[in-house]
Order: sequence, then C-alpha cells, then structure tokens
Amino acid sequence: MFKHPTLRHITLSCLNFDGDLQISESEKKTTSLQSLTLIECNVSVPFLDNVLSLPKALKELSIGERLHVFQECQPSMDPEKRTSSSRFLVALQKQAHSLQRLTHCGGHVGYLTSRDTDPEGAEKLRSLVELEYLELGFESHLYYYLRQSGFPPSLKSLKMLDSAISINSGHDLRSLSDIAFRSLTSLVDVCLPRTLADDFILHLKFSDHSFFRLFEIVDATEQAHLLSALFFDRAATYKIATMLKSYSTNAHFIVSREMFPSGKSFIPPYMEGEELPVEELMYTSDDFWRFNGINYRIMDDENWRDELKKGKKLVVCKRCRSRGLGVDECRSLGDGSACIPCKGTGLGVCEWERDESGELVSAGDAKAE
Ligand SMILES: [Zn+2]
Repeated sequence: MFKHPTLRHITLSCLNFDGDLQISESEKKTTSLQSLTLIECNVSVPFLDNVLSLPKALKELSIGERLHVFQECQPSMDPEKRTSSSRFLVALQKQAHSLQRLTHCGGHVGYLTSRDTDPEGAEKLRSLVELEYLELGFESHLYYYLRQSGFPPSLKSLKMLDSAISINSGHDLRSLSDIAFRSLTSLVDVCLPRTLADDFILHLKFSDHSFFRLFEIVDATEQAHLLSALFFDRAATYKIATMLKSYSTNAHFIVSREMFPSGKSFIPPYMEGEELPVEELMYTSDDFWRFNGINYRIMDDENWRDELKKGKKLVVCKRCRSRGLGVDECRSLGDGSACIPCKGTGLGVCEWERDESGELVSAGDAKAE
C-alpha cells in the first residue's frame, strides 16, 4: 500500500503502525501520496521513517498515538521506537520540502517514553520550511523542540490539544486549564520568534469532557459562567492575547472545546452511526473581554472600572454593603447576577437595590440618599 504509485490519501486507525518494508534507492521519492493520517495507532518511528522516504511530496501528516490503551494493544516502551527517539525529526525531515500540515498527539501520558533529546532538534523542526499548520498535544516531544526556538519559518497556525493531559486529569478541569494557560503564557512570552507570521493564530482546543454530563445545568447563563470559571484563567487569556497583538495587530488567540451535541461521547475513529464531535468557540481575542458569550469587561478592565467609579456607575449588592464592602470588592457583571463574594459563599445570588423603574441603584446614588 505504501509503495502504491498513485494512491494519494491513506488513513489508518487502531493498529500497530509497524512492519518490515524493504525499500530500494530507486523506490524513494516516487509515490503520489499527499496525506497520511494515523488515528489511535502504536507508531513505530523506524517504520515511519521508512514510509516517509517513499512519497514525492507529502503535504499532510497526522500522527495520533494511542490515547486509549487496552491490554493487547499497548505501545512499545522502547524509547528508540517511539516519537521520543531523535529519529522522529529525521523522519519528518524526509518531507521537509513539502509538508504543510502536521499533527502530533503523543498518546496516553502513562505510556510516554523519555526523550532522547537531539541538540539540533529545534533546527530540524525549523527545516520544515513549508509547514503552515501545526497541531500538537502538550505532551508531544515536538512541543519541546518548538519551545527551544524551533518555530518553522512559514508557520501561520499553532493549535494546542489537551486530549492526552486531560485523560489524566479526570474531572479536575481547573488544574488542567492551569497547566494549559501556564504553558501558553510562557510560550508566547519567551518562545515566539520575532519573525512571526502577520496573521498568526494561536489556538487552544479542549477535548470533550464528561464533566458536563454528570449534572445538568438548565440555565444557559449559569452554564456559560461555569464554563468560563472552569476552563479559563481570564487574566492569563488577556495577557496571551495582548502579547500576541504586540507581535502583530492581526495575530489572534482562540480557545475552543470539542463537544457532542447529544451528550453522548465517542472516541476516534468515529464509526458508522456514531455522532461526530463539533467544535464550539469559547474565546477569540477579536472580542477581547467575552468568554462563552459573556462580556467580563466590567469586572476585569481596571481602567474602565476607574472611569465608572468616578462617574459613580458601579453598583454594590445589599449584602456586600451591609458588610461594609465597596465597589472594589463587590465585583459583578452589573446585570443583576451574583457578585464574586456572594458566589464564593455558596449563596449564588445577590440582592440588589433597585429604583422605581427596576434599574440597579449605583453605589454613588445609594450613598447620596
Ligand atoms: Zn453580592
């Protein structure tokens, strides 16, 4: 199959991508293969190295190592055979002149093998001169090289995937998103090249989380608040978006999550009759203060808050007022939903002073009474 002269696309799932392939010099760089996709496979790097010597010009390569490991399909724990091997980048270099899209998921973190670090690894990654789209799991060894000034020169889009680290985190979404945001903050802060593409997109994609099927949240706004609280470090998000903008006003930061609309989840490869996941946008830096549809500017924008404070436009809920707390402590969206202190007590609701027309009474008005 790999030596087939005219085959253009190959997708393989749930197998050991390994074998014996005798390739003569005259067979190298002869096939028409354009894309190779491996889903949930145990990937042998020596075999991959052989396979990648065959195509004339491979454009897309997606390597999905096993996230779901079962008794009889465990990956090899020999680091020389896995993507931890320095031969991995040597294999990718075989298609350095043509590869435009590359995806790598390193698989279940419990089965990761330790990296045989190549001192020239970053340079090898940079030699993928046509690469525009890169998707990596946080656990991928390529992410390590990318951070060591390994940004390929034509890269337009970097999408980071949490699927492997999320399987380990169970229902602890908070610490999962902490890892993701910490990693991306330092990536943007210290690892981006000055020559970054003008319209560069940094994308964080959360995989499907069973967490939301454990209980049902009827109220859509409450659900959106919960999503923002669990998946986001808002301060880090603003920081990443702002730093990206300092490279180019056209650079973007995007966060999305994968979900199954019916509420029942499946794992790849999706078989006949199984629902495909959809990707829901949670944040784009184009709409700087908005997360999951909710605008947090009134809570988070200190400059704007100062202005509102001067104009006595900020409100304080009854409970906070009775406790002597002011506008700096009683932070709310100003739409009648609960403030941060009241949310923290588990009350989940606030009582607000309202005037005859039902408008919230601001701190300034209340004091003037
Ligand atoms: Zn309150």
